[in-house]
Amino acid sequence: MGQFPLEESLSCFGFCERCGVRHGLPYGKSVVYAQAMMEQFRSKRRLDYEVCDEEADPGLSFDRVLPGDRGHMFGVMECVGSVGETVWLRAFSSLGTGIRDVNGWVPYLVETEVFNRVVLPKQLEIKRLTQVKNQLDLNDPARQRWERERKQISRGLMPVIHDLYQLSNFRGETEPLKAVFKAKGGIPGGVGDCCAPKLLNYAASHGLRPVSIAEFYWGGTNKSGRKQPGDFFVACEEKCQPILGFMLCGIDK
Ligand SMILES: [Zn+2]
Ligand SMILES: [Zn+2]
Repeated sequence: MGQFPLEESLSCFGFCERCGVRHGLPYGKSVVYAQAMMEQFRSKRRLDYEVCDEEADPGLSFDRVLPGDRGHMFGVMECVGSVGETVWLRAFSSLGTGIRDVNGWVPYLVETEVFNRVVLPKQLEIKRLTQVKNQLDLNDPARQRWERERKQISRGLMPVIHDLYQLSNFRGETEPLKAVFKAKGGIPGGVGDCCAPKLLNYAASHGLRPVSIAEFYWGGTNKSGRKQPGDFFVACEEKCQPILGFMLCGIDK
């Protein structure tokens, strides 16, 4: 975080080719909001911490959402609405439990109905083929056949995903992921499922102007020990930074 206090350093940024500059958002007041959220996480131990205990959905408890030492990234964004009011947005990164739409949290870039119809069946097939393959002996020739089939389905799915994910910015533009992602070496899996793109897309499509953002890790300490619950992280270099230049464009108007 350098010599600056956290609040003043950039949390979310990317190079914009059109403007020839790096657009970014600071941590700002989102740090304070995120810390208050963590307090709720600690005491309520569930995603729907805003409702009372009786109304809580057992499927959203951290025992279910973050089982064992599982952890995930969570994000908070401070925005200004059309009449100057402050609007707070919250997001979780993909939970791997099939949970997508939770009241009070911004949605995924692809609507769940579309995802379930187009993407999910292929993902389940890939998972099934992986399991079949892993049960076979390393020298079994059938193993290679399953692997080939798995790769083929996976390769066919990627361009579909890259078309489905539509990114919006603050110039009022929307482009598919495949047109926006600029880093060399192809588009990695999971681009657009982190908190920052979800928060920015929601703000851009709802007339909100982002002011600050904070992303933090919550759950068990991850295997490498690099992520501790409550740690703040800048938007990831691999998946987010290559699309954030476009997504943040028009933000400082
Ligand atoms: Zn990311
Ligand atoms: Zn720009």
